[in-house]
Amino acid sequence: MYIKKIEFLNFKSFGKKVKIPFFDDFTTISGPNGSGKSNIIDGILFVLGLSSSRTLRAEKLTDLIYNGEKSKNPDNAQVTIYFDNKDRELPVDNDEVVISRKVRSTDSGYYSYFYFNGKSVSLGDVHNYLAKARVTPEGYNVVMQGDVTRIITMTAGERRKIIDEIAGVAEFDNKKERALNE
Ligand code: ATP
Ligand code: MG
Repeated sequence: MYIKKIEFLNFKSFGKKVKIPFFDDFTTISGPNGSGKSNIIDGILFVLGLSSSRTLRAEKLTDLIYNGEKSKNPDNAQVTIYFDNKDRELPVDNDEVVISRKVRSTDSGYYSYFYFNGKSVSLGDVHNYLAKARVTPEGYNVVMQGDVTRIITMTAGERRKIIDEIAGVAEFDNKKERALNE
């Protein structure tokens, strides 16, 4: 499974529809300071709901909506990720899986919606699907600035937990612990 394409609509600095293609093996993004490179990573964390332990560098979810115009800013932002799922790492029988998230600002507050292949789902549903492909909020599928230094200064035990998480062992440890407690 890999990301084929990300589509941004009014997300952070992307004030119009922007499509970014990704490759199977390796993609680098380069550009001047402030051009939106990190906003692309924020977009990935936003769609996949992986931001619980990280930051999207925004105080409120509605700060993620493009606000670059002086008048008439959009009231919603949407990011869509297209995954290649030919290896069926995500447990659905589709070669392509599309996960999308939208945040909408209204006078009475904000709303956040998740879609999995066009169907409205909850954040928990997205997490459950992604966990099958070993993508989790606690995992290191996305390595943020500063994570590397943090990992270097961890104790051996803490580092071991990360390896367990990546290897998929942690899931069984959690299940075992739950079973023993029953
Ligand atoms: P660097 O090389 O310094 O890390 P970068 O390419 O990672 O830069 P980003 O941090 O992705 O840049 O982009 C920052 C830009 O995004 C800033 O100019 C900021 O004003 C803009 N930005 C952030 N949120 C919004 C928003 N809601 N509406 C419009 N622009 C925004
Ligand atoms: Mg950056």
